[in-house]
Amino acid sequence: MSNHEVFEPAFEVIQKIEEAGGEAYIVGGAVRDYLSGIPVNDIDIATSETPERIQEIFEKAIPVGIEHGTVIVRHRSVSYEVTTYRVEEGYEDYRHPDEVTFVRDITLDLARRDFTINAIAMSRNGNLIDPYHGHDAIRKERIEAVGQPAERFQEDPLRMMRAVRFASQLSFHIEKKTEEALNRLSHLLQYISIERIAVETEKIFRGSDYALGLHLLHTTGLKNHLPILKDLDIHRNVPNSPLVGWHEIIAFYVLQFPQLSAENFMKSWKLSKDTKKKTIQLLYAYKQYEIEKNVTAWLVYQLDEELFPSFSRLFSALHQEDVNLDKALMEMKERLPILDKRELTFQAKDLLQLFSDLPKGSWISEWMDTIEHHVVTGEMENDYEKIKEWVREWNPPARN
Ligand code: ATP
Ligand code: MG
Repeated sequence: MSNHEVFEPAFEVIQKIEEAGGEAYIVGGAVRDYLSGIPVNDIDIATSETPERIQEIFEKAIPVGIEHGTVIVRHRSVSYEVTTYRVEEGYEDYRHPDEVTFVRDITLDLARRDFTINAIAMSRNGNLIDPYHGHDAIRKERIEAVGQPAERFQEDPLRMMRAVRFASQLSFHIEKKTEEALNRLSHLLQYISIERIAVETEKIFRGSDYALGLHLLHTTGLKNHLPILKDLDIHRNVPNSPLVGWHEIIAFYVLQFPQLSAENFMKSWKLSKDTKKKTIQLLYAYKQYEIEKNVTAWLVYQLDEELFPSFSRLFSALHQEDVNLDKALMEMKERLPILDKRELTFQAKDLLQLFSDLPKGSWISEWMDTIEHHVVTGEMENDYEKIKEWVREWNPPARN
């Protein structure tokens, strides 16, 4: 555990704060993941200094949530969230602390954190400040609340979803007292906004031990507060591989249960337009696959390249076998005669010219779609004269 190379630039940020008379530590997920031996994502820094002071110390500092004490500091092309030590009080509405108070002592800041594995601070020398024995919990692969679990879940019921999320990501078990509180208080999840729940749920599905996560959602009763999923046997009908992103999750269930509507799914989880777009594409591609029982040119043409891995994972998840279709999809894409309908040599204007006596109507787009389909599938060459000839022979539908 001596190799903190990934932390070096962050240590330089800390050093700068120290030189200005303050103190700072790496905290939260970065320390946890580092000590667990898994790749570190974002590095968060906690500091004794106020956001105003941090902005004075660093030229490149962007205040993002001054009232919460967070400033983003850019250093060597990486962004760090630098947050002032704080305590939170209130939580009257199960949602937000009524008051955030800045403090000067890191141990007070660690006390407000959810789980002991997330309540470890690392100094610039690699020393740990670990008042709740989080390192020990990591060694024992244990998720336990800081302080009284019931109190902590009542303060912020989202923490219950986070417990399951960490179980799924780290393959850790939930400590007994924490699990008991979770089982007892899972109904409090009803007070949490669906947007916050959606973030954690998506992470549960993509965790390496998603099967454990899905099982825990069921046994704890948290599942009963998840729209749509509450009516499904998510702990029994487990995908064969992790699902990354809501579009994959929705496609996985909608394809198995025709009574479900993707539209409804997205609405009740208040998912983004982007998710909606991806879900529709993925579902269309998969239905194409089911019709042809094969990966076809048309399927690959319709599916954005960025969704190839999604298609692959969805396929694995539904077929209970691990396959990687990315390469096959890529090769198929490279062989496509066109990548976009703008590449067709024969366009709508050519069609109109050919049948100038016909009134404009939906036949134009219908015919263009047919031409596009024929060219993509290789039934017809993307050659102006050949397409023209073919169209002449067949006549547009409006004439028939
Ligand atoms: P990830 O790797 O997904 O970012 P993380 O542990 O860093 O995981 P964040 O949501 O980024 O999770 O939060 C950073 C830290 O802030 C956590 O490690 C934890 O110490 C604290 N924290 C976050 N959310 C809560 C919460 N709801 N209650 C208490 N502490 C929290
Ligand atoms: Mg984080």
